[in-house]
Amino acid sequence: MNLPFAESYRIKMIEPLRKSTREERERWIKEAKYNLFNLKSDRIFIDLLTDSGTGAMSEKQWSELMLGDESYAGARSYYKMKEAIKNILGFEYFLPAHQGRAAENILYSTIIKEGDILPGNSHFDTTKGHIEFRKAVALDCTIDEAADTQLEIPFKGNIDANKLEEVLKKYPKEQIPAVVLTITNNTAGGQPVSMENIKEVYQLCQKFGVPLQFDAARLAENAYFIKIREKGYENKTIKEIVKEMFSYCDIMTMSAKKDAIVNMGGFVAFKDENLWKRCQMYCIINEGFLTYGGMSGRDMNALAQGLDEGTEFDHLETRINQVAYLGAKLDEYKVPYQRPAGGHAIFVDAKKMLPNVPKEEFVAQTLGIELYIEAGIRGVEIGALLADRDPITRENRFPSLELLRLAIPRRTYTNNHIDVVAAALKNVLDRNNTITRGYVIKSEFPIMRHFTIELEKAELGNQ
Ligand SMILES: *Cc1c(COP(=O)(O)O)cnc(C)c1O
Repeated sequence: MNLPFAESYRIKMIEPLRKSTREERERWIKEAKYNLFNLKSDRIFIDLLTDSGTGAMSEKQWSELMLGDESYAGARSYYKMKEAIKNILGFEYFLPAHQGRAAENILYSTIIKEGDILPGNSHFDTTKGHIEFRKAVALDCTIDEAADTQLEIPFKGNIDANKLEEVLKKYPKEQIPAVVLTITNNTAGGQPVSMENIKEVYQLCQKFGVPLQFDAARLAENAYFIKIREKGYENKTIKEIVKEMFSYCDIMTMSAKKDAIVNMGGFVAFKDENLWKRCQMYCIINEGFLTYGGMSGRDMNALAQGLDEGTEFDHLETRINQVAYLGAKLDEYKVPYQRPAGGHAIFVDAKKMLPNVPKEEFVAQTLGIELYIEAGIRGVEIGALLADRDPITRENRFPSLELLRLAIPRRTYTNNHIDVVAAALKNVLDRNNTITRGYVIKSEFPIMRHFTIELEKAELGNQ
Protein backbone atom coordinates (compact mmCIF):
# COMPACT_ATOMS: atom_id res chain seq x y z
CA MET A 1 0.00 0.00 0.00
CA ASN A 2 1.28 3.49 -0.84
CA LEU A 3 1.69 5.62 2.24
CA PRO A 4 -0.63 8.65 2.24
CA PHE A 5 0.74 12.17 2.05
CA ALA A 6 1.33 14.02 5.34
CA GLU A 7 2.53 17.49 6.35
CA SER A 8 6.27 18.23 6.53
CA TYR A 9 5.97 19.69 10.07
CA ARG A 10 4.33 19.07 13.41
CA ILE A 11 2.56 21.55 15.70
CA LYS A 12 4.27 23.18 18.70
CA MET A 13 1.82 25.92 19.68
CA ILE A 14 -1.94 26.25 19.18
CA GLU A 15 -4.47 29.07 18.95
CA PRO A 16 -8.04 28.24 20.06
CA LEU A 17 -10.93 28.85 17.65
CA ARG A 18 -14.45 29.81 18.66
CA LYS A 19 -17.56 28.25 17.12
CA SER A 20 -20.83 30.18 16.79
CA THR A 21 -24.46 29.61 15.85
CA ARG A 22 -26.18 30.50 12.60
CA GLU A 23 -28.38 33.05 14.45
CA GLU A 24 -25.29 34.79 15.86
CA ARG A 25 -23.67 34.91 12.44
CA GLU A 26 -26.78 36.33 10.78
CA ARG A 27 -26.79 39.13 13.35
CA TRP A 28 -23.04 39.76 13.15
CA ILE A 29 -22.86 39.99 9.37
CA LYS A 30 -25.78 42.45 9.34
CA GLU A 31 -23.96 44.54 11.98
CA ALA A 32 -20.88 44.39 9.73
CA LYS A 33 -22.95 46.00 6.92
CA TYR A 34 -22.49 42.78 4.94
CA ASN A 35 -18.79 43.51 4.54
CA LEU A 36 -16.66 40.53 5.61
CA PHE A 37 -13.73 42.86 6.38
CA ASN A 38 -15.84 44.44 9.15
CA LEU A 39 -16.22 41.21 11.14
CA LYS A 40 -14.30 40.75 14.37
CA SER A 41 -11.97 37.78 13.95
CA ASP A 42 -13.41 36.11 17.06
CA ARG A 43 -16.65 35.79 15.14
CA ILE A 44 -14.99 33.64 12.50
CA PHE A 45 -14.32 29.91 12.74
CA ILE A 46 -12.12 29.37 9.69
CA ASP A 47 -10.57 32.51 8.24
CA LEU A 48 -9.70 32.23 4.55
CA LEU A 49 -9.89 35.97 3.92
CA THR A 50 -6.26 36.00 2.91
CA ASP A 51 -3.00 34.07 3.04
CA SER A 52 -1.25 37.41 3.61
CA GLY A 53 0.55 37.71 6.94
CA THR A 54 -1.62 34.92 8.36
CA GLY A 55 0.84 32.02 8.13
CA ALA A 56 2.48 30.26 11.07
CA MET A 57 6.16 31.09 11.53
CA SER A 58 8.64 28.30 12.16
CA GLU A 59 10.73 27.74 15.30
CA LYS A 60 13.70 29.16 13.38
CA GLN A 61 11.79 32.29 12.44
CA TRP A 62 10.73 32.84 16.06
CA SER A 63 14.37 32.38 17.08
CA GLU A 64 15.42 34.98 14.53
CA LEU A 65 13.12 37.51 16.19
CA MET A 66 15.32 37.33 19.29
CA LEU A 67 18.41 38.05 17.20
CA GLY A 68 16.98 41.20 15.62
CA ASP A 69 19.23 44.26 15.59
CA GLU A 70 17.13 47.38 16.09
CA SER A 71 19.85 49.90 15.22
CA TYR A 72 18.39 52.84 13.32
CA ALA A 73 21.10 52.70 10.66
CA GLY A 74 23.26 49.85 9.39
CA ALA A 75 21.57 47.10 11.42
CA ARG A 76 22.82 43.51 11.15
CA SER A 77 19.23 42.54 10.35
CA TYR A 78 19.29 44.72 7.24
CA TYR A 79 22.41 42.92 6.04
CA LYS A 80 20.84 39.54 6.80
CA MET A 81 17.86 40.48 4.63
CA LYS A 82 20.16 41.85 1.92
CA GLU A 83 22.10 38.57 1.93
CA ALA A 84 18.89 36.50 1.53
CA ILE A 85 17.63 38.69 -1.33
CA LYS A 86 21.02 38.46 -3.05
CA ASN A 87 21.47 34.72 -2.55
CA ILE A 88 17.94 33.56 -3.29
CA LEU A 89 16.69 36.15 -5.79
CA GLY A 90 19.90 37.51 -7.25
CA PHE A 91 19.22 41.22 -6.61
CA GLU A 92 22.01 43.54 -5.53
CA TYR A 93 19.92 46.57 -4.46
CA PHE A 94 16.75 46.78 -2.40
CA LEU A 95 14.67 48.97 -0.11
CA PRO A 96 12.68 47.46 2.78
CA ALA A 97 9.03 48.52 3.14
CA HIS A 98 6.33 47.69 5.62
CA GLN A 99 4.42 45.59 3.09
CA GLY A 100 3.92 45.01 -0.63
CA ARG A 101 1.85 48.09 -1.39
CA ALA A 102 4.42 50.30 0.33
CA ALA A 103 7.07 48.83 -1.98
CA GLU A 104 4.76 49.68 -4.88
CA ASN A 105 4.34 53.19 -3.53
CA ILE A 106 8.12 53.75 -3.45
CA LEU A 107 8.59 52.42 -6.96
CA TYR A 108 5.55 54.01 -8.60
CA SER A 109 6.08 57.40 -6.96
CA THR A 110 9.41 57.38 -8.77
CA ILE A 111 8.57 55.97 -12.19
CA ILE A 112 4.89 56.71 -13.03
CA LYS A 113 3.52 59.97 -14.45
CA GLU A 114 -0.03 60.83 -15.50
CA GLY A 115 -1.13 59.12 -18.71
CA ASP A 116 1.38 56.24 -18.48
CA ILE A 117 0.48 52.68 -19.43
CA LEU A 118 1.54 49.62 -17.39
CA PRO A 119 0.60 46.43 -19.21
CA GLY A 120 0.64 43.13 -17.32
CA ASN A 121 -1.23 39.97 -16.38
CA SER A 122 -4.20 40.84 -14.12
CA HIS A 123 -2.70 43.51 -11.82
CA PHE A 124 -3.33 42.92 -8.13
CA ASP A 125 -5.80 45.36 -6.52
CA THR A 126 -3.22 47.48 -4.65
CA THR A 127 -1.06 47.58 -7.78
CA LYS A 128 -3.99 48.72 -9.88
CA GLY A 129 -4.89 51.20 -7.12
CA HIS A 130 -1.41 52.72 -7.11
CA ILE A 131 -1.39 52.97 -10.90
CA GLU A 132 -4.88 54.48 -11.26
CA PHE A 133 -4.34 56.81 -8.31
CA ARG A 134 -1.54 58.37 -10.40
CA LYS A 135 -3.92 58.68 -13.39
CA ALA A 136 -2.08 55.97 -15.28
CA VAL A 137 -3.58 52.83 -16.84
CA ALA A 138 -3.17 49.19 -15.74
CA LEU A 139 -3.73 47.28 -18.98
CA ASP A 140 -4.61 43.61 -18.55
CA CYS A 141 -2.98 41.39 -21.19
CA THR A 142 -3.65 38.00 -19.55
CA ILE A 143 -4.34 35.09 -21.90
CA ASP A 144 -8.06 34.79 -22.76
CA GLU A 145 -8.15 31.20 -21.50
CA ALA A 146 -7.87 32.50 -17.91
CA ALA A 147 -11.48 33.69 -18.12
CA ASP A 148 -12.81 30.15 -18.69
CA THR A 149 -12.95 28.73 -15.17
CA GLN A 150 -13.47 25.14 -16.29
CA LEU A 151 -10.53 24.96 -18.68
CA GLU A 152 -7.55 22.98 -17.28
CA ILE A 153 -4.25 24.31 -18.58
CA PRO A 154 -0.97 24.26 -16.66
CA PHE A 155 -0.05 27.97 -16.83
CA LYS A 156 -3.24 29.94 -16.75
CA GLY A 157 -1.49 33.01 -15.32
CA ASN A 158 0.48 33.75 -18.49
CA ILE A 159 0.52 37.01 -20.41
CA ASP A 160 -0.67 36.88 -24.00
CA ALA A 161 2.58 37.87 -25.73
CA ASN A 162 0.73 39.10 -28.83
CA LYS A 163 -1.48 41.42 -26.79
CA LEU A 164 1.59 42.70 -24.95
CA GLU A 165 3.49 43.28 -28.18
CA GLU A 166 0.56 45.27 -29.60
CA VAL A 167 0.68 47.56 -26.56
CA LEU A 168 4.46 47.92 -26.71
CA LYS A 169 4.18 48.85 -30.39
CA LYS A 170 1.31 51.27 -29.90
CA TYR A 171 2.83 53.50 -27.19
CA PRO A 172 6.26 55.13 -27.01
CA LYS A 173 8.53 53.56 -24.40
CA GLU A 174 8.57 56.85 -22.45
CA GLN A 175 4.89 56.20 -21.72
CA ILE A 176 5.47 52.64 -20.42
CA PRO A 177 7.48 52.84 -17.19
CA ALA A 178 7.25 49.07 -16.66
CA VAL A 179 5.54 45.84 -17.65
CA VAL A 180 4.15 44.19 -14.50
CA LEU A 181 4.26 40.39 -14.32
CA THR A 182 2.45 39.05 -11.27
CA ILE A 183 3.71 35.65 -10.17
CA THR A 184 1.62 33.74 -9.41
CA ASN A 185 -1.29 35.56 -11.03
CA ASN A 186 -3.40 36.12 -7.93
CA THR A 187 -6.43 37.76 -9.52
CA ALA A 188 -6.79 35.07 -12.22
CA GLY A 189 -6.95 32.36 -9.56
CA GLY A 190 -3.47 31.98 -8.09
CA GLN A 191 -2.44 30.60 -11.47
CA PRO A 192 1.24 30.23 -12.35
CA VAL A 193 3.25 31.81 -15.16
CA SER A 194 5.53 29.45 -17.10
CA MET A 195 9.28 29.98 -17.43
CA GLU A 196 8.74 30.06 -21.18
CA ASN A 197 6.27 32.94 -20.82
CA ILE A 198 8.54 34.79 -18.38
CA LYS A 199 11.39 34.53 -20.88
CA GLU A 200 9.24 35.62 -23.79
CA VAL A 201 7.91 38.65 -21.89
CA TYR A 202 11.43 39.61 -20.84
CA GLN A 203 12.68 39.39 -24.42
CA LEU A 204 9.80 41.60 -25.60
CA CYS A 205 10.57 44.14 -22.88
CA GLN A 206 14.22 44.18 -23.87
CA LYS A 207 13.33 44.59 -27.53
CA PHE A 208 11.18 47.64 -26.77
CA GLY A 209 13.47 49.06 -24.08
CA VAL A 210 10.90 48.78 -21.26
CA PRO A 211 11.79 47.42 -17.78
CA LEU A 212 10.09 44.25 -16.54
CA GLN A 213 8.82 44.32 -12.96
CA PHE A 214 7.82 41.14 -11.13
CA ASP A 215 5.10 41.50 -8.56
CA ALA A 216 6.57 38.51 -6.77
CA ALA A 217 4.48 37.85 -3.66
CA ARG A 218 4.12 34.15 -4.52
CA LEU A 219 7.35 33.55 -6.36
CA ALA A 220 8.00 30.21 -4.61
CA GLU A 221 4.58 28.77 -5.40
CA ASN A 222 5.15 29.78 -9.01
CA ALA A 223 8.50 28.00 -9.01
CA TYR A 224 6.87 24.87 -7.56
CA PHE A 225 4.39 24.76 -10.44
CA ILE A 226 7.23 25.22 -12.95
CA LYS A 227 9.01 22.26 -11.35
CA ILE A 228 6.04 19.94 -11.48
CA ARG A 229 4.43 21.12 -14.73
CA GLU A 230 7.06 22.49 -17.12
CA LYS A 231 9.29 20.25 -19.17
CA GLY A 232 12.99 20.48 -18.33
CA TYR A 233 12.54 21.62 -14.73
CA GLU A 234 11.53 18.39 -13.00
CA ASN A 235 15.03 17.76 -11.65
CA LYS A 236 15.89 21.31 -10.65
CA THR A 237 15.54 22.55 -7.08
CA ILE A 238 13.06 25.31 -6.25
CA LYS A 239 15.96 27.65 -5.52
CA GLU A 240 17.51 26.96 -8.93
CA ILE A 241 14.20 27.68 -10.62
CA VAL A 242 13.70 30.88 -8.59
CA LYS A 243 17.19 32.08 -9.58
CA GLU A 244 16.41 31.51 -13.24
CA MET A 245 13.01 33.25 -13.01
CA PHE A 246 14.58 36.36 -11.53
CA SER A 247 17.36 36.44 -14.10
CA TYR A 248 14.60 37.58 -16.51
CA CYS A 249 13.53 40.79 -14.81
CA ASP A 250 14.78 44.25 -13.87
CA ILE A 251 12.72 45.22 -10.83
CA MET A 252 10.72 43.29 -8.25
CA THR A 253 8.24 44.24 -5.58
CA MET A 254 7.34 41.72 -2.91
CA SER A 255 4.76 41.41 -0.22
CA ALA A 256 6.78 39.21 2.15
CA LYS A 257 3.54 38.37 3.97
CA LYS A 258 3.00 35.66 1.38
CA ASP A 259 5.87 33.40 0.35
CA ALA A 260 8.37 34.74 2.92
CA ILE A 261 5.86 33.64 5.62
CA VAL A 262 6.07 36.70 7.88
CA ASN A 263 3.22 38.64 9.45
CA MET A 264 4.42 41.98 8.08
CA GLY A 265 7.06 43.17 5.63
CA GLY A 266 8.02 43.68 2.02
CA PHE A 267 10.58 45.24 -0.27
CA VAL A 268 11.36 46.56 -3.72
CA ALA A 269 14.56 45.34 -5.37
CA PHE A 270 16.49 46.55 -8.39
CA LYS A 271 19.17 45.35 -10.77
CA ASP A 272 19.93 48.96 -11.69
CA GLU A 273 21.82 50.98 -9.09
CA ASN A 274 20.56 54.28 -10.54
CA LEU A 275 16.91 53.41 -10.17
CA TRP A 276 17.59 52.24 -6.60
CA LYS A 277 19.07 55.63 -5.84
CA ARG A 278 16.17 57.49 -7.47
CA CYS A 279 13.71 55.51 -5.31
CA GLN A 280 15.53 56.15 -2.02
CA MET A 281 13.86 59.48 -1.32
CA TYR A 282 10.37 57.96 -1.37
CA CYS A 283 11.56 55.21 0.98
CA ILE A 284 12.87 57.77 3.44
CA ILE A 285 9.83 60.06 3.42
CA ASN A 286 7.20 57.32 3.41
CA GLU A 287 8.75 54.31 5.14
CA GLY A 288 11.94 55.03 7.01
CA PHE A 289 15.70 55.16 6.68
CA LEU A 290 17.21 53.02 3.92
CA THR A 291 18.37 50.20 6.19
CA TYR A 292 15.00 49.49 7.76
CA GLY A 293 12.33 51.02 5.51
CA GLY A 294 9.08 50.13 7.21
CA MET A 295 10.41 47.16 9.16
CA SER A 296 11.85 46.42 12.57
CA GLY A 297 15.15 44.57 12.74
CA ARG A 298 13.56 41.40 14.13
CA ASP A 299 11.07 41.33 11.27
CA MET A 300 13.84 41.66 8.70
CA ASN A 301 15.51 38.64 10.34
CA ALA A 302 12.32 36.58 10.21
CA LEU A 303 11.84 37.60 6.58
CA ALA A 304 15.33 36.44 5.62
CA GLN A 305 14.73 33.08 7.31
CA GLY A 306 11.22 32.82 5.81
CA LEU A 307 12.47 33.47 2.28
CA ASP A 308 14.83 30.53 2.72
CA GLU A 309 12.17 28.16 4.14
CA GLY A 310 9.52 29.37 1.73
CA THR A 311 11.63 28.30 -1.25
CA GLU A 312 12.10 24.72 0.02
CA PHE A 313 10.33 21.92 -1.83
CA ASP A 314 8.93 20.10 1.25
CA HIS A 315 7.19 23.21 2.51
CA LEU A 316 5.71 23.98 -0.91
CA GLU A 317 4.58 20.41 -1.47
CA THR A 318 2.69 20.42 1.85
CA ARG A 319 1.16 23.79 1.12
CA ILE A 320 0.06 23.25 -2.44
CA ASN A 321 -1.20 19.73 -1.68
CA GLN A 322 -3.54 21.25 0.90
CA VAL A 323 -4.99 23.62 -1.68
CA ALA A 324 -5.33 20.70 -4.12
CA TYR A 325 -7.02 18.67 -1.35
CA LEU A 326 -9.74 21.32 -1.08
CA GLY A 327 -10.06 21.28 -4.88
CA ALA A 328 -10.53 17.49 -4.89
CA LYS A 329 -13.23 17.71 -2.19
CA LEU A 330 -15.06 20.35 -4.20
CA ASP A 331 -14.87 18.11 -7.28
CA GLU A 332 -16.52 15.38 -5.25
CA TYR A 333 -19.33 17.79 -4.26
CA LYS A 334 -19.60 19.34 -7.75
CA VAL A 335 -18.78 22.82 -6.48
CA PRO A 336 -17.49 24.85 -9.48
CA TYR A 337 -14.14 26.67 -9.10
CA GLN A 338 -11.35 28.14 -11.20
CA ARG A 339 -9.50 25.08 -12.51
CA PRO A 340 -6.93 23.81 -11.94
CA ALA A 341 -6.58 24.55 -8.19
CA GLY A 342 -4.23 27.51 -7.66
CA GLY A 343 -1.16 27.83 -5.46
CA HIS A 344 -2.57 29.70 -2.48
CA ALA A 345 -6.31 29.61 -2.90
CA ILE A 346 -9.41 28.12 -4.44
CA PHE A 347 -11.53 30.59 -6.38
CA VAL A 348 -15.15 29.44 -6.36
CA ASP A 349 -17.14 30.38 -9.46
CA ALA A 350 -19.94 32.36 -7.86
CA LYS A 351 -22.04 32.83 -11.01
CA LYS A 352 -22.22 29.07 -11.41
CA MET A 353 -22.90 28.58 -7.67
CA LEU A 354 -25.67 31.20 -7.49
CA PRO A 355 -27.20 31.38 -10.99
CA ASN A 356 -30.33 33.19 -9.76
CA VAL A 357 -28.62 36.28 -8.31
CA PRO A 358 -28.52 39.21 -10.83
CA LYS A 359 -24.97 40.35 -11.64
CA GLU A 360 -25.83 43.93 -10.61
CA GLU A 361 -26.32 42.62 -7.05
CA PHE A 362 -22.74 41.39 -6.53
CA VAL A 363 -22.85 37.62 -6.92
CA ALA A 364 -19.48 36.72 -5.38
CA GLN A 365 -20.09 38.95 -2.36
CA THR A 366 -23.48 37.25 -1.92
CA LEU A 367 -21.77 33.85 -1.94
CA GLY A 368 -19.22 35.07 0.62
CA ILE A 369 -22.02 36.16 2.96
CA GLU A 370 -23.87 32.85 2.52
CA LEU A 371 -20.73 30.83 3.28
CA TYR A 372 -20.13 32.88 6.42
CA ILE A 373 -23.70 32.34 7.60
CA GLU A 374 -23.46 28.63 6.80
CA ALA A 375 -20.35 27.81 8.83
CA GLY A 376 -18.46 30.91 10.02
CA ILE A 377 -16.01 30.69 7.13
CA ARG A 378 -14.63 33.95 5.71
CA GLY A 379 -13.54 34.23 2.09
CA VAL A 380 -13.14 37.34 -0.03
CA GLU A 381 -14.94 38.68 -3.08
CA ILE A 382 -12.96 38.91 -6.31
CA GLY A 383 -15.64 40.44 -8.50
CA ALA A 384 -17.46 43.68 -9.18
CA LEU A 385 -16.83 45.24 -5.75
CA LEU A 386 -13.09 44.67 -6.07
CA ALA A 387 -13.12 45.90 -9.69
CA ASP A 388 -14.13 49.41 -8.48
CA ARG A 389 -15.91 51.86 -10.77
CA ASP A 390 -14.49 52.88 -14.13
CA PRO A 391 -12.17 55.82 -13.32
CA ILE A 392 -13.63 57.90 -16.17
CA THR A 393 -17.34 57.02 -16.48
CA ARG A 394 -17.75 56.16 -12.73
CA GLU A 395 -20.00 53.25 -13.78
CA ASN A 396 -19.68 49.95 -11.93
CA ARG A 397 -17.38 47.56 -13.76
CA PHE A 398 -18.77 44.02 -13.96
CA PRO A 399 -15.88 41.64 -14.73
CA SER A 400 -16.69 38.44 -16.60
CA LEU A 401 -15.68 36.41 -13.54
CA GLU A 402 -17.35 36.66 -10.14
CA LEU A 403 -15.14 34.65 -7.80
CA LEU A 404 -15.11 33.93 -4.08
CA ARG A 405 -11.49 33.46 -3.09
CA LEU A 406 -10.73 31.04 -0.28
CA ALA A 407 -7.08 31.73 0.52
CA ILE A 408 -5.34 29.16 2.67
CA PRO A 409 -2.89 30.54 5.24
CA ARG A 410 0.48 28.75 5.25
CA ARG A 411 1.00 26.02 7.89
CA THR A 412 -2.12 27.14 9.83
CA TYR A 413 -5.19 24.94 9.32
CA THR A 414 -5.47 21.14 9.16
CA ASN A 415 -7.26 19.14 6.50
CA ASN A 416 -10.15 18.68 8.97
CA HIS A 417 -10.77 22.40 8.64
CA ILE A 418 -10.62 22.02 4.87
CA ASP A 419 -13.29 19.28 5.09
CA VAL A 420 -15.59 21.73 6.90
CA VAL A 421 -15.06 24.35 4.19
CA ALA A 422 -15.94 21.89 1.42
CA ALA A 423 -19.06 20.62 3.23
CA ALA A 424 -20.27 24.18 3.91
CA LEU A 425 -19.93 25.08 0.23
CA LYS A 426 -21.87 21.98 -0.71
CA ASN A 427 -24.66 23.02 1.64
CA VAL A 428 -24.85 26.47 0.03
CA LEU A 429 -24.91 24.84 -3.42
CA ASP A 430 -27.73 22.53 -2.34
CA ARG A 431 -29.92 25.48 -1.33
CA ASN A 432 -28.98 27.82 -4.18
CA ASN A 433 -32.53 27.91 -5.59
CA THR A 434 -33.53 29.84 -2.46
CA ILE A 435 -30.84 32.50 -3.00
CA THR A 436 -32.24 34.84 -5.63
CA ARG A 437 -31.24 38.32 -4.50
CA GLY A 438 -27.92 39.93 -3.64
CA TYR A 439 -26.90 43.31 -2.19
CA VAL A 440 -26.83 47.00 -3.07
CA ILE A 441 -24.22 49.59 -2.09
CA LYS A 442 -25.03 52.03 0.72
CA SER A 443 -21.64 53.79 0.86
CA GLU A 444 -18.21 53.42 -0.74
CA PHE A 445 -14.78 55.01 -1.30
CA PRO A 446 -13.82 56.10 -4.84
CA ILE A 447 -10.88 53.66 -4.98
CA MET A 448 -10.30 50.23 -3.36
CA ARG A 449 -13.83 50.41 -2.05
CA HIS A 450 -14.18 46.73 -1.15
CA PHE A 451 -12.28 47.12 2.14
CA THR A 452 -14.73 49.61 3.64
CA ILE A 453 -17.90 49.30 1.58
CA GLU A 454 -21.31 49.18 3.29
CA LEU A 455 -24.08 47.07 1.78
CA GLU A 456 -27.75 46.34 2.26
CA LYS A 457 -29.93 43.44 1.14
CA ALA A 458 -31.24 44.15 -2.39
CA GLU A 459 -34.71 42.85 -1.60
CA LEU A 460 -35.22 45.65 0.95
CA GLY A 461 -36.09 48.03 -1.85
CA ASN A 462 -33.95 50.48 -3.87
CA GLN A 463 -33.07 48.98 -7.29
C1 LIG B 1 -0.61 40.97 -1.35
C2 LIG B 1 -0.18 41.39 -2.67
C3 LIG B 1 0.27 42.71 -2.91
C4 LIG B 1 0.23 43.80 -1.87
O1 LIG B 1 0.94 43.45 -0.75
P1 LIG B 1 0.53 43.93 0.73
O2 LIG B 1 1.58 43.30 1.56
O3 LIG B 1 -0.84 43.38 1.00
O4 LIG B 1 0.56 45.39 0.75
C5 LIG B 1 0.69 43.02 -4.19
N1 LIG B 1 0.66 42.10 -5.17
C6 LIG B 1 0.24 40.83 -4.97
C7 LIG B 1 0.25 39.86 -6.10
C8 LIG B 1 -0.20 40.45 -3.73
O5 LIG B 1 -0.65 39.21 -3.56
